[in-house]
Amino acid sequence: RAKARGRACYEVFSKPLLDQVINRHQIEALLRDALKRNEFNLYYQPIVALKDGRVVGFEALIRWITPQHGLIQPSEFISLAEETGLIHQIDRWVMHEACRQVQQWYQYGLSSFPFTVSVNLSGSLLHQGNVVQMISEILAETGISPQSLKIELTESVFLETSPSVNQQIQNIRDLGIQLQIDDFGTGYSSLSYLQRFPITAIKIDRSFISRIDAQYSGTEIVQAIITLAKELGLEIIAEGIETVSQLHWLKEAGCDYGQGYLLYRPMDAESTEKLLRNIGKGDEVM
Ligand code: C2E
Ligand code: MG
Ligand code: MG
Ligand code: MG
Repeated sequence: RAKARGRACYEVFSKPLLDQVINRHQIEALLRDALKRNEFNLYYQPIVALKDGRVVGFEALIRWITPQHGLIQPSEFISLAEETGLIHQIDRWVMHEACRQVQQWYQYGLSSFPFTVSVNLSGSLLHQGNVVQMISEILAETGISPQSLKIELTESVFLETSPSVNQQIQNIRDLGIQLQIDDFGTGYSSLSYLQRFPITAIKIDRSFISRIDAQYSGTEIVQAIITLAKELGLEIIAEGIETVSQLHWLKEAGCDYGQGYLLYRPMDAESTEKLLRNIGKGDEVM
């Protein structure tokens, strides 16, 4: 009996949510309920200046904590949310919550250093007319300065544009918000968009960083991206730094910023607040 139950539990936890839920309507209902019941939560992963190890900002990463299935990672539900259109409400919630939280931390005067918050925005929001208005509202509601907010858009957004999408990207930048390309290098390599859009930073995808090994092989593409970004005057952030060799190589290669499990894992708001209280007091990782 216990064995049978154990097995059933195991299946519930190991099976992707996608497989358990049969149709769109059910997925939609689940996500809608999650919003209503406040089941979403933000984790924050520090972004570090590689030259001195200082935390310069955080990426806000959504988590879904369900009573039935426990913690569900974004890889399991973001694409479902995009398919059902609920991503609009979810991304609005994320941006609002991240801005609210960070503004509160500023007001507490937690850190003597300035820091920013980066928020992932699904490209589908740019195909809807009012994303700029949505962002303006969030800035007004939370009181955060646009200079403190960074928006991450994946490469694909810049490859399937339209005049209205281009205009919205420009309008977001005109609000004073910095725009970063996420997962750089994984899309089609049409590099021309780097000059056509008002981008401020490139995040090199983890798949390239993970190829840098202890002998420092696998560095050619990363070196080329760093050089390109510097030529274009863009900030450069390495994603997914997991080893000391990767960190050392990136530092030597002139990569400005980094993010990864070696430095810090994403953490809940409480732990992030603790970290902020200790910034500048010798608690840095490097
Ligand atoms: P991303 O924006 O590229 O975020 C980085 C992902 O890499 C995060 O996964 C982070 O936990 C993970 N990561 C960071 N350092 C390391 C490392 O050293 N090793 C490994 N293996 N992984 C590392 P997470 O939180 O599971 O998010 C996955 C993706 O889901 C994100 O990729 C982003 O595309 C999407 N996402 C997360 N939050 C949101 C959101 O609020 N809105 C939207 N639209 N998408 C989101
Ligand atoms: Mg991101
Ligand atoms: Mg990324
Ligand atoms: Mg990624």
